[in-house]
Amino acid sequence: MQIRYKIALQFTLIVLAILLVFSGIVYYRAENQRRTSFYDRLSRRAKTTARLLVDVKEFNTTLLKLIDKNSSSRLPEEEIFIYDYRNLLLYSNVEKVSPYVTQERINEVRLAQEIKFQYEGRAVIGLVFEGRYDRFVLIASAIDKNGKLQLKELIITLLFAFLGGILATVGLALFFAHQSLRPITTINREIGEITAKNLRKRIHQGNEKDEIAQLAINFNLMLERLELAFKQQRQFVSHASHELRTPLSALKTEIQIGLSSLNSPEEHHQILQNLLKDTNRLIELSNGLLQLARINETPEELPFDKVRMEEVLLNAQREVVASHSDYQIQFDFDQIPEEDHLTLVMGNEALLKNVFVNLLENACKYTPNHQASLRLGFDAEWCMVRVIDQGIGISKQDLPNIFQPFYRAKNAIDYHGFGIGLSVVKRIIELHEGQLEVKSKPHLGTEFMVKLKHLKEESANDFIR
Ligand code: ADP
Repeated sequence: MQIRYKIALQFTLIVLAILLVFSGIVYYRAENQRRTSFYDRLSRRAKTTARLLVDVKEFNTTLLKLIDKNSSSRLPEEEIFIYDYRNLLLYSNVEKVSPYVTQERINEVRLAQEIKFQYEGRAVIGLVFEGRYDRFVLIASAIDKNGKLQLKELIITLLFAFLGGILATVGLALFFAHQSLRPITTINREIGEITAKNLRKRIHQGNEKDEIAQLAINFNLMLERLELAFKQQRQFVSHASHELRTPLSALKTEIQIGLSSLNSPEEHHQILQNLLKDTNRLIELSNGLLQLARINETPEELPFDKVRMEEVLLNAQREVVASHSDYQIQFDFDQIPEEDHLTLVMGNEALLKNVFVNLLENACKYTPNHQASLRLGFDAEWCMVRVIDQGIGISKQDLPNIFQPFYRAKNAIDYHGFGIGLSVVKRIIELHEGQLEVKSKPHLGTEFMVKLKHLKEESANDFIR
């Protein structure tokens, strides 16, 4: 069922319930009122008759009957019976005693002083009347034709008002539900027109204030993020294919040369050497791409543990020096930690080592004498690692871009690399909720600073033991 019909139905049901309760109360009060006032009139009529008969000497039964018959205050089909203290009928304005008047009833009236009941559509009242010399029992009944007619009319009025109210409610509920859901319908239609090919399109933001406008604004923000992600992915794919094409074309050329039988064995050896170099380049590139893809895809699956930073840095230093014998790295502490927890962080050891291997390799690579230094420090919150070199540096224009995949500064073109390492570093630091800062001056050198939150004393305890 569409929401607009659901809202209309719920609203109608609520109004229906309110109208029902309201009509019920009106009917109940009117019926009560009618009964009370009719019994009142009946009781007054009976008492007046009794007073005339008992207290006024000049009145006898025949005269009273005559007056009673012609009285303007006589009620419809009125019957009045007056009994003396021996339960003998003293007066009746009708010929025959009605079946609801029995000796038991008369005694019941004497006991209860007053009784009221209904008998075949008549309202009957029985009451005790104190005369000068006796206590009389009066039983009077009549049919409240007028009251019942008025009540019937009230029911018809209520019924019409009820039906009219429901019809009006259904109409209004449908109208308002339609009105209030109209912006959603528009948004829906606009969203339907958005595909991966036209992510530039934005949906209408209405008055930019209410909840629906907020939904549209958030949706547009999401589209912006999606568009950016798509753009980055497209760029990534085009860069990756470009990077892959260069070594592949070199491979092809080498193979073509190798296939010509005119080559000497030395030349063949050289060709195979080149093939190996280009293949290694390809492996290196695909490893970098794979790493980047993995980190972006499944960060939640990465196991995090307590990691000691000194160990990570020493391992990274060892790995870099082992693969590049001409690289030199000096590892220092800014200050010696007095407490163990200051250099303990929560993280993934392999990824953190990767970060420092990348930074150290860059520092040595982009420094002519291949020397770099590594410094470990801390403050109340952070454990800080600085990788410092005095190499070629990075220009102001290049600095904001070096973390983009495949970006390489102009002064780095002569150095071997793919421009992937720093984007991997940045992503890993993001995963660790750390900070990455860089300061650099061309020809003077570069300093990368990685900040990771160290453990608090209490959470480090179980690791130290
Ligand atoms: P790669 O080093 O393979 O080119 P990276 O992603 O590691 O890729 O680095 C991106 C770019 O940042 C490098 O091409 C280089 O221009 C610049 N860069 C990174 N580290 C340094 C450094 N220590 N000194 C100078 N430039 C650097």
